[in-house]
Amino acid sequence: MKNKMINYLGQNGYFGAYGGRFVPEILIPAVDELNQAFQEILRDEDFYKQYYNLLMDFSGRPTPLTYAEGLSAYFGKAKIYIKREDLNHSGAHKINNVLGQGLLMKKLGKTRVIAETGAGQHGVATAIMAAKMGFQATIYMGAEDAERQYANVFWMKQLGAEVIPVTTGTATLKDAINEALRDWAGNFDNTHYALGTACGPRPFPEMVTFFQSVISKEMKKQINEICGKNPDRIYACLGGGSNAMGAFVEFLQEPGVELVAVEAGGKGEASGKHASRIAYAKAKTGVSQGYKTLFLQDDDGQMLDTWSISAGLDYVGVSPILAHLAETKRVRVLAATDAEVIEAFKLIISKEGLIPALESTHAFAGLFREIADTKPEDVIVVNMSGRGDKDIFNIGEALQDQGWKTFVTERGKAYAD
Ligand SMILES: *Cc1c(COP(=O)(O)O)cnc(C)c1O
Repeated sequence: MKNKMINYLGQNGYFGAYGGRFVPEILIPAVDELNQAFQEILRDEDFYKQYYNLLMDFSGRPTPLTYAEGLSAYFGKAKIYIKREDLNHSGAHKINNVLGQGLLMKKLGKTRVIAETGAGQHGVATAIMAAKMGFQATIYMGAEDAERQYANVFWMKQLGAEVIPVTTGTATLKDAINEALRDWAGNFDNTHYALGTACGPRPFPEMVTFFQSVISKEMKKQINEICGKNPDRIYACLGGGSNAMGAFVEFLQEPGVELVAVEAGGKGEASGKHASRIAYAKAKTGVSQGYKTLFLQDDDGQMLDTWSISAGLDYVGVSPILAHLAETKRVRVLAATDAEVIEAFKLIISKEGLIPALESTHAFAGLFREIADTKPEDVIVVNMSGRGDKDIFNIGEALQDQGWKTFVTERGKAYAD
C-alpha cells in the first residue's frame, strides 16, 4: 500500500468556510508541533510502510471486500459489495486512526496519550494502542456516557487506562472534548491528544482522514480487481466523519463515483430527537471545540441534545471536510431513522450472516431506501465501519426479545445476591 497524499483537501486547514484552528493561545504550540509532524509524515514513505505493516500485523489488514450475494439477489438490482472494517481488531475502523497517531507520538517522543470518547469505542481503541505501544493513557468520558456504556469503561480499565468521568456541562461527548483540550494545554510537553474523528482543530480533520484513507485505498484496488471498474456509488455512515472520509477520499477526484453519507435520523426530523446536521438542514455554522463547522445549536448558540439508536453517531458537530463536501454537492447526505435501521439490521443479518454495528447499519439503510433506483450493472460499496456485537443491549431491547429481557434481569439479580 502506497502513501498517496490528499493535499487537495483543504487550504491551511480550511475546507471552504469550515475548519480552522480556534484554540486558546496556550494550545497554539501543541497544534503547531502536531501539524509540523503531520506535514512531515505525509511525505515519508518509510513512516507509511511502518504504519501499514502495523495495521497488517496487529489489526488484520487488508480487510476483505465481500460480495453481498444474499442482499443483491433479494433486491435484484445493483451488485452490492461490503468493505469489512468490522474485521479489524477491536471491531471497527477506529483502530486505523489510533495506530497511526501512536506512531506519530513515538516520532514526537511523547509518552502519554489522552483521548475523548462518547460511547467508549474510541476510548477502547486508544487504550489498546497505548497498551500495545507502552504509553500511559487517560480517557475523558462524559459521566452519563460512562454509566450507560460501562462495558467499554471496564475494558479501558483492564487495558491499563485511567478513565475520567466528566461531570461538567451535559456530561457527554462535547464536554469530554473540552476537558481533553484543557488537559492537553497543560501537559503537551509529554502528552499527545489522540482525537477520534475527522473533527477538531487543524491538523486533526486531515490527519484522521489520512489515517483512515487506507479504507478507500484498499477498496479501490479490490473493486477494480473484482469488477474492473470503480464503484458507481459508495455509502458510509456519518457521525464525526472518519469512516466516511476514509471510504470516500480516494474517490473524491473521480466524478463518476457517487458518494453518499448517512446520518442518524433518530426518531425522525419532526421529533427533534436525531443527530442530523446536514440532511435535515438543522445545524448552523459555529465555532466550538477548536474548529468551525455545522453544529446542532439553538438560536443562542447553545448546543442541542442529540439522539440516535447508535451510540457512535450522535455528535453535535460534523467534520468540516464533509460540511464543505456536502455544500459543494460532492457528497450527498441522507438521514436514516432508528426504525429504518432496525429493519435494515434484520435484513442484513438474515441475508448475509453479518452482524453490523448499528452505526454501520445506517449506511445500509440509506442504500436500501434508494436501491429501487439502481440498475443490475451498477456496482455499490457499503462501508461496514464496525461489528454489532457491542450493540446487543440496544438491539435486544429494540427487537423486544423476551428471552433477552429475562436474561438481563436474572443476571442482574444473580449478581446482586
Ligand atoms: C465511532 C463509530 C462511527 C462514527 O464515527 P465516524 O467518525 O463518523 O466514522 C461509525 N461506526 C462505528 C462502528 C463506530 O465505532
